[in-house]
Amino acid sequence: MIDLHSHTRFSDGHLDTATLLQRASSLGIQQLAITDHDCVDAHLQIASGAVDVPDQLDIIPGTEISTRWDNQEVHVLGLMVDINNATLSELLAQQQQRRQERAAKIGIQLERAGHCGLQTWLQSLGCTAVSRVHVAEFLVHQGVVKSKQQAFSKYLAKRGRAYVPAEWCSISEAVEAIQAAGGVAALAHPDRYPLSRPKFRRLIDEFVDVGGDALEVSYSNLNQDMLKNLSVIAADRKLWATVGSDFHSPEHTWMDLGKVRRLPEICRDQGIWRHPRWTQFARPAAED
Ligand code: AMP
Ligand code: MN
Ligand code: MN
Ligand code: MN
Repeated sequence: MIDLHSHTRFSDGHLDTATLLQRASSLGIQQLAITDHDCVDAHLQIASGAVDVPDQLDIIPGTEISTRWDNQEVHVLGLMVDINNATLSELLAQQQQRRQERAAKIGIQLERAGHCGLQTWLQSLGCTAVSRVHVAEFLVHQGVVKSKQQAFSKYLAKRGRAYVPAEWCSISEAVEAIQAAGGVAALAHPDRYPLSRPKFRRLIDEFVDVGGDALEVSYSNLNQDMLKNLSVIAADRKLWATVGSDFHSPEHTWMDLGKVRRLPEICRDQGIWRHPRWTQFARPAAED
């Protein structure tokens, strides 16, 4: 049981690190990557000894970097990274700063619409990577909207009243920083971006061109056809194949830890657990 994509309260996840690890362990996960948005704080916490790791669980250090590509937000996972690497730390600090600045601007837009108190709410969360998801939770809590979905459509998404574009780094900056930290750069959930087919192919081409290493091939809510499609791309482009639920909260039962399909035959030899760096962090994966 491998899950290489999950979040804690340091970004927009609902569990703290210790609770996430306990949940992973009780669900039989043996290898878990924590991949918070634009931060590695959960890993710093684990490395400092502040959180105990259950015996049967190996932790793979990771992060999920938001990038800007052709006016779209594209997420790049960094797996097996050195969490103390200066280049990566610097990029993550910039991204966190951009998140703070965007949240402040969103707060001003919301105040104009009569909804005050966002900054106080965000400060009380104490997270490292402030997300629009936190703003959506604030709007639901204040009774401004009925659901987070509605918060996005009315306020936070591209045509929303309080939309503020983020100025993320480029895909190549993310890939470079991940690789500088010794990690593997994977294009996250490739079918979740609203892209036409030609644009999707261009995204893959450009990701490969800038030296991207891996493709997230299996994740929650992925249909069988897309799983097949992504596994063929991984095989053709000789990319490592990774799997992850993108776990955020026990409430999101459809993307709980471990809810991923196994890799299709065509790219099974490229499972990221076969990467030479894997055994620095985890026991060899059980024969898949
Ligand atoms: P951020 O990284 O702060 O810009 O937040 C982006 C996150 O918000 C995404 O990873 C999604 O989880 C969530 N999100 C984006 N658009 C929507 C939407 N229309 N409805 C609900 N959640 C969304
Ligand atoms: Mn998230
Ligand atoms: Mn993502
Ligand atoms: Mn994610």
